[in-house]
Amino acid sequence: MSPTQLRSAAAVLVLAIAVIAAAAHRGPVDSAAAGAAGAGPAKTVEVPGPFVPADAGPSMPEVDSLGTRHLTGRAGKTVALTFDDGPHPGQTPQVLRILRDYDVTATFCVVEPNVRRHQDLVREIVADGHTLCNHTVSHDSRLPERPAGRIDDEIGTVVRAIDDVVPEAAVPFFRAPGGNFAANVNAVADGYGEQPLGWSIDPEDWRDQTTRRIRDEVIQRMHPGAVVLLHDGGGDRSATIAALPRIIETVRAAGYEFVVPRA
Ligand SMILES: [Zn+2]
Repeated sequence: MSPTQLRSAAAVLVLAIAVIAAAAHRGPVDSAAAGAAGAGPAKTVEVPGPFVPADAGPSMPEVDSLGTRHLTGRAGKTVALTFDDGPHPGQTPQVLRILRDYDVTATFCVVEPNVRRHQDLVREIVADGHTLCNHTVSHDSRLPERPAGRIDDEIGTVVRAIDDVVPEAAVPFFRAPGGNFAANVNAVADGYGEQPLGWSIDPEDWRDQTTRRIRDEVIQRMHPGAVVLLHDGGGDRSATIAALPRIIETVRAAGYEFVVPRA
């Protein structure tokens, strides 16, 4: 055999194995589906959506019994995007660029080590008209169990770090790590003039979700006054960043205005 014949023979053999393997794997359900679909190639159907629900109401109180705000507190169809765990040198600039392109203002819940490390990004967040939120030093999700002095340190150190970088900027919000708000933690935040800020929509983008899943979760659960929990730091947030333009376009097309929550 010539090399060409050899390659042809090999190709035929591979094809034959593939056909046999496919036949062996085809169960009764597959056969029925193949019959119903006909002999032609499957058509790609463009699925419209996802859609913003037309008649959705808020799913939780505006401010809960601990004083944590979960809704924007602004009238009409409003939504607040919040980004946690940054600033991140690779990801926050991408988020900022998208927000700038769409003229959207958002809230950034920053942790102290990243404030110290990425001071230019903190300045850029403020210069772009976004709002800062205190997300503690060490992101300890068991903060309510810690001694009072430690809680004060976790929150107060961020206040001082932000003041060093952007003394003109207000920090009107506090977000407990892991959403673990409690009376003792909220009281310390109050003492620094920070409103505890929860959320009403969590697409769990920290859980290695796909872009599509993040996008659909946010859009399909949208409601007036929504506060959306997203992340620009703390891990690979490329799926969040990729989902962002479509979320903004779809929600805005449904009549929503992007706001910062009431402090
Ligand atoms: Zn966080």
